[in-house]
Amino acid sequence: MKKSLSLIIILVVATLSCKKTIESEQKAWEINIRRANQLSIEYPNFSQLIREQIDAAELIMNESSSITDEKAKISKMAEANVQIMKGFIRNLENIKSIKTDIRKKAIEARGLKALYNEMTMINHAISDSERTIMESDLKVKTAVNTCTEADALTGLILTDLKNAESNLDRAIAVIKDRESAEKAKIEETQKQLIDNTAAKEKAEAPVICKYCGTYNLASALTCKGCGASLK
Ligand SMILES: [Zn+2]
Repeated sequence: MKKSLSLIIILVVATLSCKKTIESEQKAWEINIRRANQLSIEYPNFSQLIREQIDAAELIMNESSSITDEKAKISKMAEANVQIMKGFIRNLENIKSIKTDIRKKAIEARGLKALYNEMTMINHAISDSERTIMESDLKVKTAVNTCTEADALTGLILTDLKNAESNLDRAIAVIKDRESAEKAKIEETQKQLIDNTAAKEKAEAPVICKYCGTYNLASALTCKGCGASLK
């Protein structure tokens, strides 16, 4: 009961936060057209297939313009937006962003203070990521004749890049985990030192006789002023 209720809440929130309207679909469409055309310039070997995918999506978009029912219209426009960005076009977009991420992570990895035994691992991950980017830049220039070919090629490139990225992530995590373990250990030692000092100071604090007010050494058993027991 509780579970289904939270599921409903999640669904409601999700629906509210990305509520589709004619305006939002139109806006998405314009952005998607721009993205597809940009990719066509960047990857001329895909331009023919990109053109075909835009045309197919445009057909769906045109169908939507004759629909009067708002809900059906929005749904048709959304379908056009899915069609234009699907498969290899989505992959080409993702290839671009994952390359940017890998480059950032390689810079981060280079900046880490690796121990001698971590160097091989981190250097390997960095050079592997650089090589993968270089190879993917070459592979992505391969001539593609069909959508299926384009989907497969870009899918493979994406997989290679994702693997290189997770290698980098792992290598970075090893060093960061070791660093934070070291930091925790130093903090623990410092805390212990402070605790010990406090305990020692407490132990060394003079004992004031409750009968005559004389200050006695911490180790004293009886008051040097009146001879009363201090324990
Ligand atoms: Zn005393």
